[in-house]
Amino acid sequence: MSQTTAWRATGALPALSDRHIDPHAYPDGVAFLDGQYLPMSQAKISVLDWGFLHSDATYDTVHVWDGSFFRLDLHLDRFFGGLEKLRMTIPFDRQAVAEILHDCVALSGHRAAYVEMLCTRGTSSTFSRDPRQAVNRFMAFAVPFGSVANAEQLRRGLHVAISDKVRIPPASIDPSIKNYHWLDLVRGLYDAYDRGAETALILDFNGNVAEGPGFNVFCVKDGRLSTPAVGVLPGVTRRTVFDLCAEAGLSAVQADVGVAALKAADEVFITSTAGGIMPVTTIDGAPVADGKVGPITDRLMALYWQKHQDPAWSSAVRYP
Ligand code: PLP
Repeated sequence: MSQTTAWRATGALPALSDRHIDPHAYPDGVAFLDGQYLPMSQAKISVLDWGFLHSDATYDTVHVWDGSFFRLDLHLDRFFGGLEKLRMTIPFDRQAVAEILHDCVALSGHRAAYVEMLCTRGTSSTFSRDPRQAVNRFMAFAVPFGSVANAEQLRRGLHVAISDKVRIPPASIDPSIKNYHWLDLVRGLYDAYDRGAETALILDFNGNVAEGPGFNVFCVKDGRLSTPAVGVLPGVTRRTVFDLCAEAGLSAVQADVGVAALKAADEVFITSTAGGIMPVTTIDGAPVADGKVGPITDRLMALYWQKHQDPAWSSAVRYP
């Protein structure tokens, strides 16, 4: 008799040692799930959820810095745009989602937080193969702020490898729908680790540079900035770099960025809500220009964090 059959026959629970014990520790934070606020360790969803089984989900991440959300409106725009394109509906409007995000942060007490809103296709009681029968599930959470680059990497620049993995093309998945299709990015990351680098950039379907796991990329040549135009998530931090460049009188364009052009750049940096503007100083083991963080990158990093004080771009969390 198998163990499972024995449990059924006797009605006894398996011995503690045979049961799955959640081996994970969770960051300190607060989640909103199925109408309730919960500690992160209790925020769990069904294994039958389409989001888990098919990556059928969209999400957005905004950060809170020094007690204020940064560019929350742009993140809400992108999230609600993704819901519409995926034909998902949630029982909350923009204002209600903003309030839930505020509540998660306020209840967590974090003054620097990584805040995620997400929606999965959800589940149906019959495990139907028809996505229209699933009830979409909205959730949100706030955990401590995390960055792609740590303090040392921010100071001396990241070491990046360019993997030959190709980002899922826009004809397959519209990259403006922020999504969890990350196997290309994760495989790129392992390529980078195998080569002694700290993170990865992967290619677009034409062999140009696309983006990395959770970030866009910019290069600077002769004082002008460029960032890949196609096949990438239109990042809010990327957009912020364009806005900062417009204010600072710097030229910035979206264009194809070839591997050789990236390696020959004067400066390279990556952008993400998880860390802001982060310098890259080596690519595939070779220094970018003189291997030091460049002056334009330095200036944009300073402007980016200064803008967190600007009420036009930030909204304060009301902590209890
Ligand atoms: N590209 C990908 C694939 C991402 O997942 C992210 C953020 O998670 C980014 C780029 C950067 O976007 P944002 O600046 O909006 O954080």
